[in-house]
Amino acid sequence: MTATILDGKATAETIRQELAVEVARWRDAGGAIPCLAAVLVGDDPASQVYVRNKQRACERVGMVSQLHRMATDTTQQELLELIDRLNRDRDVHGILVQLPLPRSLDEQQLLDAIHPLKDVDAFHPENVGLISQGRPRYLPCTPHGVLQVLHRGGVTVAGREVVVVGRSEIVGKPLAMLLAQKNGPLGPEMANATVTICHSRTKDLAAVTRRAEVLIAAVGVPQMIQADMVAPGAAVVDVGINRTDQGLVGDVDFDAVKEVAGHITPVPGGVGPLTVTMLLHNTLTAAKRTRETAG
Ligand code: NDP
Repeated sequence: MTATILDGKATAETIRQELAVEVARWRDAGGAIPCLAAVLVGDDPASQVYVRNKQRACERVGMVSQLHRMATDTTQQELLELIDRLNRDRDVHGILVQLPLPRSLDEQQLLDAIHPLKDVDAFHPENVGLISQGRPRYLPCTPHGVLQVLHRGGVTVAGREVVVVGRSEIVGKPLAMLLAQKNGPLGPEMANATVTICHSRTKDLAAVTRRAEVLIAAVGVPQMIQADMVAPGAAVVDVGINRTDQGLVGDVDFDAVKEVAGHITPVPGGVGPLTVTMLLHNTLTAAKRTRETAG
């Protein structure tokens, strides 16, 4: 058996076209052009590529983007002042601080300083709290991307065994939360899963992952999910993006696992393009909220 490919790139393109229509409709109705402000500190090449991709994606759906490029030795205070300025700028609807930041900076303090209404990455404690209570203001981008690629690929999760490997604040934990809720942003069939979260202290990881009808890997270890860790017919979503001498690879051994799985996402071209797309989705939502909150 060879798995059906869940094509994240094509899914992202479809959603971007839908978003472009929505942005045009919003602007025609007199809404402000949604604007995303990106803060990039230092000269990490991967971060520069990510930010450039996000900016281009914004422009292609009719939004605008700002880039605030800061030197590696920028102080915490200077960044707090920049975030404060962006918080108060009525033309800016969404703010993102590209991670990772130089070690000398207090990342948590900076992320917490972003106004919750402009927190389009959904990292602010207020937004995380709303997600955990099942009434999200913004959906976390990568977890939302995972739900979209499954949903649009015809894979549901309600009542099924879903195993998430990885418990980071950005991917694993919020994703597990969304999957286990009674209702979700994509309806009850894309929620109500029986979710198991695995991490570096999980005993006999393979025994747990083999139980999964839907297996999601968000670990950051190249190709650690091997074919003998996957149940025949399972849907496998690979969130991992690892730079190796062989180029970009995921957390899943794609060539081996595709012979066992029912569905699988590739890397690249899987969850990555969807993460950026869901950021655009949140930026449009943020622009619409500005009008609501302005009365
Ligand atoms: P983190 O490093 O923050 O978290 C990794 C998680 O994996 C931790 O919970 C860790 O456990 C767990 N883990 C590490 N080693 C093992 C192991 N041997 N067995 C079981 N669990 C293990 O990573 P992120 O969640 O931020 O990112 C994960 C991957 O996803 C990375 O490759 C990253 O580049 C990629 N990524 C991709 C995105 C996309 O758009 N496609 C977006 C964000 C990330 P513990 O908590 O015990 O340390």
